[in-house]
Amino acid sequence: MVHRHHERIHIDDRNLCKLCINELGDLYMDLGLSADELELLAMPRRSFTFHFPVRMDSGKTRMFVGHRIQYNDARGPTKGGLRFHPELTVDDVRDLAFLMVLKCAVVNIPFGGSKGGVVVNPKELSKNELEQVTRAYIRAIQDYIGPFKDIPAPDVYTDEHIMVWILDEYERIKGQHVPAVVTGKPYELQGIKARTYSTSLGGIYVLEEAMKRLRMSKARARVSVQGFGHVGENAARILFEEGFKIVAVSDSKGGTMNSRGLDIHKVMQHKEKTGSVADFKGGRNISNAELLTSDCDILIPAALSDQLNKENAGRVRAKIVLELANAPTTTEADQIFSKKGIMLVPDVLANAGGVVVSYFEWSQSLTNEYWDEEKVLRKLKSVMITAFHDVFALCENRCRMRRAAYQLAVRRILHAERMRGNL
Ligand code: GLU
Repeated sequence: MVHRHHERIHIDDRNLCKLCINELGDLYMDLGLSADELELLAMPRRSFTFHFPVRMDSGKTRMFVGHRIQYNDARGPTKGGLRFHPELTVDDVRDLAFLMVLKCAVVNIPFGGSKGGVVVNPKELSKNELEQVTRAYIRAIQDYIGPFKDIPAPDVYTDEHIMVWILDEYERIKGQHVPAVVTGKPYELQGIKARTYSTSLGGIYVLEEAMKRLRMSKARARVSVQGFGHVGENAARILFEEGFKIVAVSDSKGGTMNSRGLDIHKVMQHKEKTGSVADFKGGRNISNAELLTSDCDILIPAALSDQLNKENAGRVRAKIVLELANAPTTTEADQIFSKKGIMLVPDVLANAGGVVVSYFEWSQSLTNEYWDEEKVLRKLKSVMITAFHDVFALCENRCRMRRAAYQLAVRRILHAERMRGNL
């Protein structure tokens, strides 16, 4: 239910973005949003749920559920990843699509936001089945994606190989090459240098700015990273190579800790061999729950949503929380951090490096111009640092950084809506 000057407007609650209402509801007064503006932001423009059959290796047919939500396209074509996860719900996809809208606005790239997903555990599929699921998903959504409509990318449990299947299926349907329909492609197939680690590196550029504000030195900083997928692993690796002490890492199967520091290269080799960071010889086993409250200066949640919540936030010991995952902190936990003086660098800023380099890749695919790695990194750094300053200037540590980031993004989105005549 949305309230407009004491009068209730009856819109279907199921279509509202809960994350948006939670966060913007709170910001409503500060931002001076009108009820019309809040209502416009609280609902996605297009929301698709579809069911498609896939012939499994066994010869049996299984039905899958897919979602794609194109939340807002006032600032440009919608952009957002594709997630494969067994517990994915349409509410999650809506929240994540809304975050993409904000993220693209915070870093000021000309995209709206979207998100998609399939309810599936990809670890239980063969490679062939994974390919068939991806291709069937694209056939189902073919009319609604495209370089100037909606551009998918990797997200949780999807990788560059899946992006190639997306590209190939779409190009077969269209009967022509359309490399700008998807980002996160391998470099050999019109991808871009650095996309595989750009989310992590973008986060580190922002972290370095945050540390300057708190006068923290990297030689002394102890880091714990939750999640050892593309984002968590690359963050731990780059920080380790830069001289930070990584005291704990974890993945979905468990974690490892060593207060004197873990050799991340060796942890990576161990994971390659055994499938997990747990049981690493150079550390002692810890659970994911222990990692989050471990003794460290910088905590990096790089796994799934809602990991930091009112149950554990009070016990978090870090000075900085860098959200490389999407929505890892609940609103209650965010408020607890703020009271404790913990600086939280929000997802829409901290992990935006991925979509920023996706934007570079998209423009390369449109123009056929290819940049070297040095240029990609230089431009990424400049976008991330500008975004950090834009956000920080709005709060100067007096308010929560998430609030400042939302405020900046909402202002930019509503400005575009107003110019288009929608407000
Ligand atoms: N899935 C990533 C994110 O949540 C990247 C999206 C993109 O590159 O379009 O930011």
